[in-house]
Amino acid sequence: MRFLCTNDDGILAHGLDVLARAAGMIGEVTVVAPDREQSATSHSLTLHHPVRPVKRGERRWQVDGTPTDCVILAVQALMPDKPDFVLSGVNHGQNMGEDVLYSGTVAAAMEGLACGIPSIAFSFAGADLRAEVSLLDHQVELIAKLLRHLTSLDRIPRDTLLNVNLPPLRGQKVEGVRLTRLGTRHFSDSLQKMADPWGRDIYWIGGGKVHWTGDRDDSDIRAVQDGFVSVTPLHLDLTHHRMIADAGQWWRDL
Ligand code: MN
Repeated sequence: MRFLCTNDDGILAHGLDVLARAAGMIGEVTVVAPDREQSATSHSLTLHHPVRPVKRGERRWQVDGTPTDCVILAVQALMPDKPDFVLSGVNHGQNMGEDVLYSGTVAAAMEGLACGIPSIAFSFAGADLRAEVSLLDHQVELIAKLLRHLTSLDRIPRDTLLNVNLPPLRGQKVEGVRLTRLGTRHFSDSLQKMADPWGRDIYWIGGGKVHWTGDRDDSDIRAVQDGFVSVTPLHLDLTHHRMIADAGQWWRDL
């Protein structure tokens, strides 16, 4: 089985190394990843300047572009054969609820799907990443086991990617796996006003507090809080089908 591994934290990220090690237990791994931090770049595409792949070893490339650029380059140019799966991550930080709308990790899996390749995004849902990122080393076996299972499923719809969040626990302490839906969260105090060295106002987006609302037993956040791996199937069709079905007279009155 051929895997393309990419991420949004950059080619030097520990999570990418962990993912490649786990995938390497099952099949042949090609890494094509951004040369720098691309978190929260979502599904952006580099259109206004060229992107340059630099070979960093056998089946290993860095690209001065976004996660989406990496998947396109890998599939259309760098890999002699299409991968059987696109794997993205392991992201340093959760991608649950509305995170998936900003995430470069999830977007890379979306791009894989857009190329017609089944895709899985992995994120490590630790709160204190500096303290916990070494826990990832204890999850290689768990990720490999999960991959073995997910890649053997024949019932994943073609338009669906899997969004996996790993709880911040050693592999053997993980309670199990739950199939989940996206939770809901909002940030507060995530815009900081500061001064630049010349005393001018600047703003820094980020940080703040996360509040989970509308928490349900079957949500991604609840699964991770309970010590489970969360697997959320996502599809790319953002259409609100229920509104169309319910529109009825309202639409005819327009
Ligand atoms: Mn990231």
